[in-house]
Amino acid sequence: MKDYSLKIGWLYPDLMSTYGDRGNVIVLQKRCEWRDIEVKILKIDEHTNDQDMKTIDILFGGGAQDREQKIVIENLNKKKQILHDLIEKNVPSLFVCGSPQLFGKYYEPEEGKRIEGLGIFDMISKHPGINHPRLIGNVIARAQIHGLEDITIVGFENHGGRTYLGSNARPFAKIIKGNGNNGEDSSEGVIYKNAIGSYFHGPLLPKNPEIADWLISKALDVKYKKSVTLKDPDDTLSRTAKSTIAKRLGIKL
Ligand code: GLN
Repeated sequence: MKDYSLKIGWLYPDLMSTYGDRGNVIVLQKRCEWRDIEVKILKIDEHTNDQDMKTIDILFGGGAQDREQKIVIENLNKKKQILHDLIEKNVPSLFVCGSPQLFGKYYEPEEGKRIEGLGIFDMISKHPGINHPRLIGNVIARAQIHGLEDITIVGFENHGGRTYLGSNARPFAKIIKGNGNNGEDSSEGVIYKNAIGSYFHGPLLPKNPEIADWLISKALDVKYKKSVTLKDPDDTLSRTAKSTIAKRLGIKL
């Protein structure tokens, strides 16, 4: 019997993992196992009930094309209350691109009608129309959240939607090079309680293990109501990968 165990809730893995974001779940699982933390993964779909979801310690949602977002939103709305409760209970969460768009007030896709979101994040997202390019490319930013102050993060973005934060939302990071939320205001992603939204694919966590450890530490804090020290694994490979992407963008780490 291990001293600690965590359950990772993974939203709609068959529909919301178009851009390889499943790699984030693998990193969270491995970085827990390296610290002798038992890990269970709950794949969330239309058959998952609230009782199961109440046991989640870390919540993850990946990216998707407009088509899959239109499919997922119907069932996601049925889970609105339990998702709201988890985030309000400070359950640490990471949502990438197409997922945070659905946790905002609404997302207007490139074609078709507005997708009403869960309204958990005070933000809106909209595709500016067929004549506007997708925001695609390597990105680098500086995290701006407590516990990750000034950590440089790298990733890859690929989205048509542009996100605009409301007065009750703070950006997860500040763009150094690339577009981030909308290519206009240097904001990247969103943070609300312990829930992070980000446009960074890559996937995000392999090259930014600091964020994975932030999520794991928060989950242990919330579940066991105490601060658990995580021993540092050898992150040479992650650091090399991060500095390689930064160098491609002309930034020396
Ligand atoms: N379909 C959404 C957009 O184009 C999200 C894309 C994604 O998850 N990478 O903005």
